[in-house]
Amino acid sequence: MVQVFCDSCNKEIHNPSRGVNYISEIGLDLCLPCRDDLILQTGKEMSKKDAYHLKAYNGVYEQTLRRMCK
Ligand SMILES: [Zn+2]
Repeated sequence: MVQVFCDSCNKEIHNPSRGVNYISEIGLDLCLPCRDDLILQTGKEMSKKDAYHLKAYNGVYEQTLRRMCK
């Protein structure tokens, strides 16, 4: 059985099932609480910007993800 650890909080994800109890983005694994946090933080960053662009959202999302997984 594969072991998966959240790259943000370093907790082990039990019975890992991608898309069910963890997500995988740009090679980083995130548990669901951290994923929710990522979406929340991305939303906060986006609200500072004037216009909503999907391209900008993806950039901010990735930046936030990388920051969380340092
Ligand atoms: Zn986590």
